[in-house]
Amino acid sequence: MPYSNIIAAVDFSAASRTVLERAVEIAERDGARLTLIHVYEYFPPLDIADTPLGSVSWGFNEQELVELHRQQLQTVAAELASPPILNKLLTGNPKDEIVGYAREQASDLIVIGSHGRHGIGLLLGSTANAVLHHAPCDVLAVRIHEAD
Ligand code: AMP
Repeated sequence: MPYSNIIAAVDFSAASRTVLERAVEIAERDGARLTLIHVYEYFPPLDIADTPLGSVSWGFNEQELVELHRQQLQTVAAELASPPILNKLLTGNPKDEIVGYAREQASDLIVIGSHGRHGIGLLLGSTANAVLHHAPCDVLAVRIHEAD
């Protein structure tokens, strides 16, 4: 059965190129729709106004950071895939957002890296492991070697 609705999840690590190349290959083979996603891990600022530290300025604007991630995702989608593919920026916990988006979009394949920013040296990174356990569809964990 060919896949029809594929998600490729990238964390902007060096593994992203390998993940996206594999996803594009499968999407072209099967004539599937392909969406590139990135999850921006949003950490709400702590309210420490009442602590002895007083109020602290974080020195960045959350909206600007979200926008930077959105731009980076668009650049990756345009540079690594030709023609550029659909892309979607999500915020929250990567594992929950990847699995939730796949469910919402009725995707039939999630393509991730076996590793990204976490877990080199383990068999699977923590995000990859969690997605494999909770995904509502097939998951392809593309083997990322340390040299990548
Ligand atoms: P990890 O298990 O965190 O080392 O990452 C394994 C793979 O999960 C990465 O190669 C990506 O495909 C995916 N991934 C991890 N973090 C994110 C993220 N924030 N947004 C999208 N995909 C991610």
